[in-house]
Amino acid sequence: KDAPKPSMPWFGMDIGGTLTKLIYFEPCDIMELEQQGEKETLKTIHKYLVSNIAYGNTGIRDTHLEMPNQQIGGKKGTLHFIRFPTSEMNAFINLAKSKNFSTLACAICATGGGAYKFETEFKQRINLTLHKFDELDCLIKGIHYIDRNFPLECYYWKDADSDKPNSSNKVPFDFHNPYPYLVVNIGSGVSILAVRGPFDYKRVWGSSLGGGTFLGLCCLLTGCNTFEEAIALAAEGDSHKVDKLVKDIYGGDYSRFNLKGATVASSFGQMNIQEKREQASKSDLARSTLVTITNNIGSIARMVATTEKIDKVVFVGNFLRVNTISMKLLAYAMEYWSDGALKALFLEHEGYFGAMGCIMEYVS
Ligand code: ADP
Repeated sequence: KDAPKPSMPWFGMDIGGTLTKLIYFEPCDIMELEQQGEKETLKTIHKYLVSNIAYGNTGIRDTHLEMPNQQIGGKKGTLHFIRFPTSEMNAFINLAKSKNFSTLACAICATGGGAYKFETEFKQRINLTLHKFDELDCLIKGIHYIDRNFPLECYYWKDADSDKPNSSNKVPFDFHNPYPYLVVNIGSGVSILAVRGPFDYKRVWGSSLGGGTFLGLCCLLTGCNTFEEAIALAAEGDSHKVDKLVKDIYGGDYSRFNLKGATVASSFGQMNIQEKREQASKSDLARSTLVTITNNIGSIARMVATTEKIDKVVFVGNFLRVNTISMKLLAYAMEYWSDGALKALFLEHEGYFGAMGCIMEYVS
């Protein structure tokens, strides 16, 4: 280990390809902890973080995920979950500078590719050492910690049906004996890990067709600018106007191989015809992009689960944020195509496990 540990576990940071996830640990006895000099800085930073839910134009605190009464590094306190686009790192560093962050900590724990990419910048501009941890180690540690310390963290979608997207409901899942399980992390890209014990995992697959692909294609096809807009458009759209279905080819089911007429035979398969293009709205295109990316990830996950002989598949990553469409599609696809053998599971803290694993370095 090449850097000194910070005096207190204030922060864990996961600097991803699209979003930076920052977890702030607010100790209960904040005013008694530190020496006088640090107290003022700490108070300033603390006040700024907990009295706002938006920071600048793009930073957000996810208050619904807050975890009170946590015990970390021998201290009791509350975990706060904050995110901002990695493209705004410059503004973040300026902010840290203006709040005198470097007098509080000389190092913070960081993971994700950005912990490497921005290392020099952090050191040079605010004299902060990034104490780097592997993002997949952190992901697994974070999942285990949060699952055990947040009520109803793990859930599944009951009776998900692609024909009736509004019918299924969220049901808690007891994840206390999780092994073995698969983690499908859908961030900018996709990583799939097979986890067989608390410290026993391997990365078994990856795909560049992930959340970043959905957002990028959606911006190109519809002119939208944000993930929220893309999801809102998709919610209004009908992918059948864009995709070619089995029934568009067969006139009905392809029963010999048990393919329903409503199954997508070719994603975007109608868009070679000018008339169909004119009939497809931006929402339809957004929906089809979402369905295409989601189903591709679902079928890769299914193949990997079969190969690894694992029946629980946990989907995480910020692609699933405010995205019940994809969650229900994944739930349906996993169950339907495996004849009920596979279970798709989801976690409330979606994209924050890497950052959590980083803070966990104090606990272990
Ligand atoms: P990474 O670590 O690669 O940044 P994340 O797990 O944070 O991965 O997921 C990034 C993906 O989450 C984006 O590609 C996009 O699909 C989705 N996403 C969800 N919310 C947002 C947002 N507010 N801004 C950008 N992308 C978002």
